[in-house]
Formats: sequence, structure tokens, C-alpha cells
Amino acid sequence: MSLDRWTDEPKRQLIEFGDESDWDGVYRMIQCKRALAPSGLPEMDYNLNPYGGCEHGCVYCYAPEVTHTDWKEWRVVKVKSNIVERLAKELPGLSGTIGIGTVTDPYQAAERRFRLTRACLEFLEDKGHPIHLHTKSDLVLRDIDLLRGFEGQVAVTLTGTDDRVSKITEPGAPLPEARFRALRELTEAGINTYALIAPILGHLEGHEREFCDRILETGVKRAALDPLNMRPQMAVRLERMNIRGSSEALLKIRRMLSDGGVEVRDVF
Ligand code: SF4
Repeated sequence: MSLDRWTDEPKRQLIEFGDESDWDGVYRMIQCKRALAPSGLPEMDYNLNPYGGCEHGCVYCYAPEVTHTDWKEWRVVKVKSNIVERLAKELPGLSGTIGIGTVTDPYQAAERRFRLTRACLEFLEDKGHPIHLHTKSDLVLRDIDLLRGFEGQVAVTLTGTDDRVSKITEPGAPLPEARFRALRELTEAGINTYALIAPILGHLEGHEREFCDRILETGVKRAALDPLNMRPQMAVRLERMNIRGSSEALLKIRRMLSDGGVEVRDVF
């Protein structure tokens, strides 16, 4: 991996983090002002995001719009190197569920190198806060030992079974097979896990049976369905790529999973 893609400013700090062999992105080291933000999301009291931006680069991502980040900047990952220190200062006196990865994936490739999500979990381990963690990455399996000790739930996001579609719509994310495996192994490990099917795109039409069978094979007992939440910038991008949501697929998936004994709910 060439260092040429690194910007000058973080180069020294990145090298201090060790071997760059498992790095495949553009990282920027930052000091965050706050670790925890009040959450407006269901079942979460606080948001905790060890990274800003996301290497997965999903074309349907609305987080840049929610966080007022330029889309071109979104895949430049901001590594909040002081996040555990901030967390230690802010946590005393707070109670409630901590949402981890509410606007970015806490197990994107950066985590393999910087391990901030793991460091946050290690810090939170004996503090008694339930967690609600979202990821698209099988890297979450690395932390099964820690996750076992938490109350709460872990969501693995699934969007389909087709590698080609995944490579176009979520180019930096682990492929479907890795995510099904993550869902299965978390479930088998006894971690309270659910399948987050989000967003439900038109390419799933005609493939709902195959998709649901793969989900059922994992043994997961709960699923949440999320239609495509269109936002202005995203709408322009998706229209150009001829990508749309599918309420038809959503209805079929809901029925097939329910028939398979999975408890299904809608996210919105
Ligand atoms: S994994 Fe989530 S946060 Fe990351 S780019 Fe995809 S939709 Fe956005």
C-alpha cells in the first residue's frame, strides 16, 4: 500500500498506529469534542460513533445529509482518537442505552487498524449500559467475547444475496456471504441479534424467496425492515443509477420471514 494517498497532516500519527498493510482507505485523525450525543432514534438514549464518515460508501447512504457532510468527503474516515478519553469523562451519571454506529459503521475497515470500537466496548464493559449496535461487517465477530457481556442487541444489515449488486451499491462493505455468516455466528453465540434489512431496493424483486431462505438459515429470530428513505442529494444519485426502493419486495419479505417464524417489525 502506497503512502501517497495519505494526506500530509495525519501521516505521522497513522504510522504510529502501526502496520498499514490492512488499511484500505483515507484516514484523518481528529480529536472529538464529545463522545456521546443524545439520540432521537428508537430504543437508544445516546449515540456513540468512534468514526466520522464511512468507507463502505453505500450509494443509498443518507448519513452525509443527516450529518451535513459533503458526499465527496464521506468516505474520508475521521478517526476520533480521543473517543475513549471523552467517553470516560461524559459517562458518569448517565443512564440508558448507548447506540453504537448510528451514523457510520463501527466495524468498517478502519476498525481493523484503529480498534476504537473495541476500545469503547472494553471501557463500557462493566458500566451497566445496554448497547444497540449496527453494522454491515463481519469484523464484529472479532468482538464476540466482549459483546457476550452486554445487555442489548446487535443488528447486522442485509440488502440482498447478489455480490454484483453489493459491489455497485455498497462498494466498501463486506459482501453478502460475510454478513450472513456474521448474523449466524452472532446468533449461535447467544448474542441478541437481529437482521436489519435496509434499504429494500428494486433488485430484490423476484429474489425475495432466496434472500429470505438465506436469512432463515442463520437461525435469527428477529428482523427489522426499512424501506428506502429518500433524501434530496441521494435521490439525484440513485435516479442517475436507476436504483429505486421496492414496497412490493418489502411486503413479500415481511410475509416470508413471518411465515418462517421470525418476528418482523418496521424500522419507520
Ligand atoms: S454502512 Fe451505513 S453509514 Fe456506512 S456508507 Fe453504508 S449506509 Fe452509510
